[in-house]
Amino acid sequence: MLSEKIQQALNRQITYEYAASYTYLAMAAYFESRSLPGFAHWFRVQSEEERAHALRFFDYVNDRGGRVYLGAIDEPQNEFASPLDAFEQALVHEQRVTAAIHAIYTLAAQENDYATMSMLKWFIDEQVEEEKSADEIIQHLKLISNDGVGLFILDRKLGERTGDK
Ligand code: MG
Repeated sequence: MLSEKIQQALNRQITYEYAASYTYLAMAAYFESRSLPGFAHWFRVQSEEERAHALRFFDYVNDRGGRVYLGAIDEPQNEFASPLDAFEQALVHEQRVTAAIHAIYTLAAQENDYATMSMLKWFIDEQVEEEKSADEIIQHLKLISNDGVGLFILDRKLGERTGDK
C-alpha cells in the first residue's frame, strides 16, 4: 500500500504531467500559427509523451492499491514572443518537473518506499534527456538568431521527430 503522503504526491504529479502536456499542445498551436510545422510536430510529440508520463503514474498508483484523484489544469500560455521564447519556457517547465520528481524521490526515501524509488528512477533518467533536448534546441535557435534559412532547416529537422517514449 502507498502511504497517504506518497499517494498525494503521485496524484499531484499526474496533474502536473497533464499540465505539461497541455502547455506543449499550446506551443504546438503557436508554431502552427507561425507556419513552422516541424516545430509544431515536435511539440505535439512532446505533448503526447507527457500524457504517457501521466498514465505511467496513473498505472503505478493503481498497481500499488492507491486511489487516483485528478486535479485542475490551469490555462496554458498561448502566445510567445519567438520560437526561442517558447523553448526557453519549455526548458523552465522541464526543470520544474525535474524538481517535482526529485521531491517525490526524497519523500519516498524518507518513508523507505523502495518500490516508488525504483519506479521514479525511469523518470529521473528521462528528465536528463528532456532537459538536454530542450537545451540543445535553445542553443541552435541562438546560433540561428533571426535567420530565416536557419529556422527553415531546423523546422525540417524537428519535423522528423518520432514518438519514441
Ligand atoms: Mg514528463
